[in-house]
Amino acid sequence: MPTTKNNSGIESLRFLTPARAIEVRARFGSPVYVYDQETLRRQAEACLAFPHAFGLTVRFAMKACPNAAILQFFESLGLHFDASSGWEATRAMRAGVAPQKISLATQEMPENMPELRRRGVLFTACSLNQLDRFGRQFPGEKLGLRLNPGLGSGHSGKTNVGGPGASFGIWHESLEEVQDLVMNHRLHVVKVHTHIGSGTDPAVWQHVAKMTLQLTREFPEAETVNLGGGFKVARGADEKTTDLQKVGAPVKALFVQFERETGRKLKLEIEPGAFLAAQAGALVCSVQDIVSTGKKGHEFLKLDAGMTEILRPSLYGSQHAIIVVPGPISRSAGKKKYLVVGHCCESGDLLTPAPGQPETLAPRLLARAEIGDVCVIEGAGAYCSGMSAKNYNSFPEAAEVLLREDGALRLIRRRQSLEQITQNEG
Ligand SMILES: *Cc1c(COP(=O)(O)O)cnc(C)c1O
Repeated sequence: MPTTKNNSGIESLRFLTPARAIEVRARFGSPVYVYDQETLRRQAEACLAFPHAFGLTVRFAMKACPNAAILQFFESLGLHFDASSGWEATRAMRAGVAPQKISLATQEMPENMPELRRRGVLFTACSLNQLDRFGRQFPGEKLGLRLNPGLGSGHSGKTNVGGPGASFGIWHESLEEVQDLVMNHRLHVVKVHTHIGSGTDPAVWQHVAKMTLQLTREFPEAETVNLGGGFKVARGADEKTTDLQKVGAPVKALFVQFERETGRKLKLEIEPGAFLAAQAGALVCSVQDIVSTGKKGHEFLKLDAGMTEILRPSLYGSQHAIIVVPGPISRSAGKKKYLVVGHCCESGDLLTPAPGQPETLAPRLLARAEIGDVCVIEGAGAYCSGMSAKNYNSFPEAAEVLLREDGALRLIRRRQSLEQITQNEG
């Protein structure tokens, strides 16, 4: 992956060119998400090359970017899918994904479980209550178990998905209750799943794999171990991207060792979201106002987008590269420090927080901007379109465009209308 800072200290575009960004705005309006098919393919190929001993399934955690066109493209490359709700599972099927390729691990068991099961969607129980309910509804059937191994490594309190502070999965000390429920309902635990957001450190992945394999010993029918996602990618210029070969090698060795000790050839599953999609997306928007708060204050760039399209900076203080694309009319070049804010009447609608501190203002060095300039926010392919403060201030959902490998731009979601925002009222 190229770094996103050029030698003048200003962040640069990833897959768009200035001309392309201007063309996108002219054709599709502002703001608009653009996804790069070439990057999606490259990331998928990197995941499919994850080291494994006895077979590998890569599931796209579809909550990261659930547009049908993205799901269809990933399916064509051989990916399977991780759905986080019954709605997502149904959405994937509507996009044409085969139900057998969808695995549901959800915080809220859907009401239409019988239909999802009948169609072939796989299920992973994420709590004792879910395990019991599944067993009552489908005695004697196969399922997976999501366990909380007691360790977490998310990059903030809000992204920590393992350990005693996370509600996801069955606590690792509850195995006796698990075995009772499995026995009472004659269930077959065919998959053991952990997802703790392990990040970039191979030692953490090795440790999690070790703990998960240890737990797998308790489930002799398990054929598959799913180690979740959480392969971090650099969105900001100073962040690191996970080297899948490096984190995967010691994991593969552990599977080989497990086979030597138990004779069991376990298949590996991983389910990245951010790794597959984050760098493949950019938000093209516009500088619609510039405001100053005086000599001791700040210069603010106000965009025609914000938490309604990219919520992560407000939520976690996450860093996204922001590039001002100079307009066609010549004017003074140069750089300047700006605070970049969104269009919502909400002081938390800030796109340049300090890293990990959503409430701290961190002015950023950008190309000198003028009202009307195109602005591109990078790293917007995952957890942006699908996870935003949608319709706040009644701003309609932005359009989505796919930049195909042949260079063509294809509209894959129209911009929402005001009628669509209000259609279910009164
Ligand atoms: C969100 C999620 C993922 C994907 O996480 P990333 O950090 O985007 O890779 C994988 N598995 C489960 C169970 C999830 O909830």
